[in-house]
Amino acid sequence: MTTLVAPNSLPVRNPADNHLLATLAVDDATEVAAAAAHLRRAQTEWSESGPRARADWLRRWRTWILDHTDELTDLLRAETGKVRPDAVVETIASCEFISHYADHAAKYLAAESVKPAGPLSLPKRLYTRYSPYPLVGIITPWNFPITLFLMDAAPALAAGCAVLAKPSEETPLACGRLIDGWKEIGAPPVLTQVVGRGDTGAAVVEAADFVQFTGSTATGRRIGMRCAELLKPYSLELGGKDAAIVLDDADLDRAVNGITWGGLFNSGQVCISVERVYVAAPVYDEFVHRLTAKVRSLSQGTADGDDVGAMVTANQVDIADRHVTDAIACGARVLVGGTRSITGNFFAPTVLVDVDHTMACMTEETFGPTIPVMKVADEDEAVSLANDCDYALSATVWTRDHARGQRVAARLEAGAVNVNDVFSNLFATTLPHNGWKQSGVGARLGGAYGLRKYCRVQAVTVPRIPTLRSELTWYPYSPRRTAVTRWVLRAVASRGVAARLGLRGTGPR
Ligand code: NAD
Repeated sequence: MTTLVAPNSLPVRNPADNHLLATLAVDDATEVAAAAAHLRRAQTEWSESGPRARADWLRRWRTWILDHTDELTDLLRAETGKVRPDAVVETIASCEFISHYADHAAKYLAAESVKPAGPLSLPKRLYTRYSPYPLVGIITPWNFPITLFLMDAAPALAAGCAVLAKPSEETPLACGRLIDGWKEIGAPPVLTQVVGRGDTGAAVVEAADFVQFTGSTATGRRIGMRCAELLKPYSLELGGKDAAIVLDDADLDRAVNGITWGGLFNSGQVCISVERVYVAAPVYDEFVHRLTAKVRSLSQGTADGDDVGAMVTANQVDIADRHVTDAIACGARVLVGGTRSITGNFFAPTVLVDVDHTMACMTEETFGPTIPVMKVADEDEAVSLANDCDYALSATVWTRDHARGQRVAARLEAGAVNVNDVFSNLFATTLPHNGWKQSGVGARLGGAYGLRKYCRVQAVTVPRIPTLRSELTWYPYSPRRTAVTRWVLRAVASRGVAARLGLRGTGPR
């Protein structure tokens, strides 16, 4: 039975049992513009309050989040169908983004002196300063409603921006409650949420000065095109098809445990989840044997003690189902799982073998709890197949030899590589999180970078010596002044003067 939903209302359901959790009003373009105007009014004072005052508010917000962990976790579980351990990790670990940017904003935002590159700039003091974009729009998907919002909201707020959040239409509740928390602690009105589908997101793109988008490559491309028309800066964190490479010297127990968790955590709905596995021939049989046993031992459901929860949308279950059905039709075998539930959005944790790159399960993003495993002759074949992909978000390499792991990492086309681990780059706030190829444009986090991306850089020059009434190159022009200017510029261009002043080779720091 199809339920008709009014375009101006948004029902939010529990994907595990379809239970209606809330019906929210959709914000249209006029309401988005009004919210943006309200935020802009508050942003000037927020920006002028300085990084230390803003860090105080961020830390109070963190305390509020930690005081409300259970409530947020329950809300998250209800709207996503996550199992409790997955939801708890998301709620608490995400505070790391607040901590890092509260602790380092003053340092990251400090003006920086720049050395003159040549004699023309010698009479000036040069420096750069960071000026926040007044309004940052943060558009997020449904797989990590708290983490993917805080990863960008924390640095943007710390930078002095106002933030207009547009969570996924599937999961607006936990993010909304988090933003309630900002209001409950009495923080300045520089953070709010608008609710709705793609139209509301498109209105956020129009309203914001900088667009931070996390979601599918298809939507990211549309947003990038619109931002190009508007000449508006943006950053896109998009889809992935992350490869795991198990080399012949891998610790198989660790590889199996890591790949199982990396492929099935959050029901495989992680942009950097393990989506395909290449195993060196000498260890292939043993790896597959242990992986199958491990996956078979897991329980599915959303009760306490279950390992793998629901998927957020029925559409995502359809995609997992299509990839498995297509693989079987092309000759693959299912060793465990392979089926969808009759009620609720569940797809059984699945191991597929005898797969290859003619199959969608090895080339398209599945975003579900499936682990397709392919036998490869050696390291070279594994690297070549891993790189044979339009996506390039992250990858994992499993080997006892860390030097070998790093050599393989350097050959992989991926924005991040974890050796003998999964997801460990994610909460490493000082590492950049960026997708190569069709997995993204720009980056997030990466220490100072993650905050400075929300700022415009201003170049400032100030005289170092008393200034004259006029300069040689200013009006009025005359043949004599032109001749002197020519002589000076030639000396500078040939670096004759620079060499004498010991400036040769200096450049901006
Ligand atoms: P999606 O692209 O369908 O939607 C994401 C958000 O964009 C939602 O809030 C949606 O309402 C909004 N939106 C839709 N159309 C829009 C438009 N025209 N203008 C502005 N906003 C619009 O993605 P999804 O299905 O919610 O999420 C799953 C995808 O997200 C997967 O591809 C996954 O790999 C990706 N993802 C990437 C990362 C990363 O960091 N690279 C992290 C998590 C998820």
